[in-house]
Amino acid sequence: MIVTKELSKTYHDNEVLKGIDLEVRQGEIVVLLGPSGSGKSTLLRCLNGLETLTKGAIEINGVRLEAGMKNRAFKNNLLNIRKQTGMVFQQFNLYPHKTALGNVIESLLIVKKMPRAQAEQLGMKMLERVGLADKRDAYPSKLSGGQQQRVAIARALAMEPDILLFDEPTSALDPELVGEVLDVMRMLAREEGMTMLVVTHEMSFARNVANRVLFMDGGVIVEENDPETFFGQPKTERAQRFLNKIN
Ligand code: ATP
Ligand code: MG
Repeated sequence: MIVTKELSKTYHDNEVLKGIDLEVRQGEIVVLLGPSGSGKSTLLRCLNGLETLTKGAIEINGVRLEAGMKNRAFKNNLLNIRKQTGMVFQQFNLYPHKTALGNVIESLLIVKKMPRAQAEQLGMKMLERVGLADKRDAYPSKLSGGQQQRVAIARALAMEPDILLFDEPTSALDPELVGEVLDVMRMLAREEGMTMLVVTHEMSFARNVANRVLFMDGGVIVEENDPETFFGQPKTERAQRFLNKIN
């Protein structure tokens, strides 16, 4: 479960997140929409502990990070939160000199200090889940964009998080490769207990897979609803304008 309480993030004097109160329940699939610069990536980065908080707090499965926290408790909680949340980015950020399996098991070896044989066994399971077991020895340059992103998803899964954060996972892909990545995400969404917060421009994914849509603008959550209501009868003028532009 993800909770944020009056979460604010300021860069210099630019307040990018303005007191976000959010709850995502265990097993919920939430799509986060909003215009460019509205703070979607910043919110995800705060949830994964990649950004410090300026004000407020986040809680991931009861583990809390607060603005200004700076001691050992902070370090422990940060580590704990990073282990529980996997993140998938628009740019896959694979190591070019490591094979698909090498990329998937890297964190298992380094962060979890797992013996190599055990890591490889788990890594292969994750490659199987994303349909790429046969590419275990391929280097990223020999994989399509869609395959590279599926390796990146397998890498996130290898840490066995129960929360997955996706930041525009299909935006860098050629249109014909988008479907295979969305298929993997759909498969994960159907799994019991997996919590997903997804920033995407794929409205069909939002409509068909999300339990809830959040719409952000100017660093605040302006509107939230089930997808049918959000797309059918957006309440706010800002959401209506956004939907008109993308349709
Ligand atoms: P997009 O749809 O274009 O990805 P977004 O909703 O993800 O947009 P963010 O990337 O969260 O938006 O950025 C929100 C605001 O914060 C923008 O005005 C951006 O310029 C600013 N910002 C983001 N990261 C930084 C940073 N590291 N330093 C300074 N400003 C930043
Ligand atoms: Mg972004």
